[in-house]
Amino acid sequence: MSKKYTIGVIKGDGIGPEIVDEAIKVLDAVAVVEDIIFDYKEMLMGGVAIDETGVPLPDETISGVKLCDAVLFGAIGGSKWDSLERHLRPESGLLALRKEMGTFANLRPAIVYDELINASTLKPEVLSGVDIMVVRELTGGIYFGQPREQLKDRAYNTMVYTREEVLRIAKVAFEIAMKRGKRICSVDKANVLEVSQFWRDIVEEVASDYPEVELSHMYVDNVAMQLIRDPRQFDVILTGNIFGDILSDAASMLSGSIGLLPSASTGKGVGLFEPIHGSAPDIAGQGIANPIATISSAAMMLKYALGEESAAGRIDNAIKQTLAEGYRTGDIGAYDAREVCATDEIGSIIADYASRE
Ligand code: NAD
Repeated sequence: MSKKYTIGVIKGDGIGPEIVDEAIKVLDAVAVVEDIIFDYKEMLMGGVAIDETGVPLPDETISGVKLCDAVLFGAIGGSKWDSLERHLRPESGLLALRKEMGTFANLRPAIVYDELINASTLKPEVLSGVDIMVVRELTGGIYFGQPREQLKDRAYNTMVYTREEVLRIAKVAFEIAMKRGKRICSVDKANVLEVSQFWRDIVEEVASDYPEVELSHMYVDNVAMQLIRDPRQFDVILTGNIFGDILSDAASMLSGSIGLLPSASTGKGVGLFEPIHGSAPDIAGQGIANPIATISSAAMMLKYALGEESAAGRIDNAIKQTLAEGYRTGDIGAYDAREVCATDEIGSIIADYASRE
């Protein structure tokens, strides 16, 4: 009998709908060969939700996602909504959704596809074999800390971490490291920030339960530099919310384009799977966005949320095969391309490879 999963789908703004449609195309292709039925439930969030309901995260979306097996998400945001009050902006909807879903662990793999080694701005010899997993804390830190306020002559935010928040994200990172190269670099700014020393102390505590894992600590400014100098030194990078946000964007350029990298946000219940990039308003509606990050996020969803390893592997292989055959979107198009494809064209090629027996 076919396995059936309910997938929440939040397309969002800008290129969101274009890239999510391609991920669904690929999921549908693997569903046939893997005997899976996906029941998609589309929900609103972000600017499109503001336009239709007046708020960035409608109540129906909050209750709807909790009834799903996993949620696939595109991206939100755009200048149209930038002048709204902060709590009414699309980005506030996304932060609130992550908090509501309890998705405190954001996994962001940064891998370099051999086929695209020339697409990066860095030298191939620096990049060959790069395979990093950034484990970013997602529902705490300065993005959520209280008090926060913007006044006429000053503004402030607060970086807070509780013991429980650091413990649980550190455990996630150590469990992941055990299945990989058994090395963790915990990133902080403990030379300046109390909250970072606190983070460091708790990570050390967790490390004592994982004697096989080699733990190092590095300041965030040094990591930014080391990622560019010698990225192969990293296996798992464990870090807080704001540092992880910035470092994973930097790490994305190792792969050649921000349009390639997926993420999985997991935690207490239903997981959220999304590309690491934003809604790219500058290219929205032109059919040129790279859907690979979102398709790859769908593969992470199959693997981490649904336990469908075989289907996930099909998608990962289909992406590699597509790139190996020289199909590219514009963002990576100049490099060893046989053909520069539109968003829906490359989606169809990946779906075709993913559906082959
Ligand atoms: P962005 O990631 O949207 O775009 C940065 C650059 O990368 C742009 O030049 C864009 O064209 C390019 N790019 C991004 N994704 C691409 C893809 N799939 N294919 C090809 N090129 C791609 O970041 P930004 O410009 O700083 O932000 C735009 C909007 O997105 C803002 O409103 C921001 O708040 C929002 N945003 C949303 C998320 C999210 O939904 N998770 C994350 C970051 C930014």
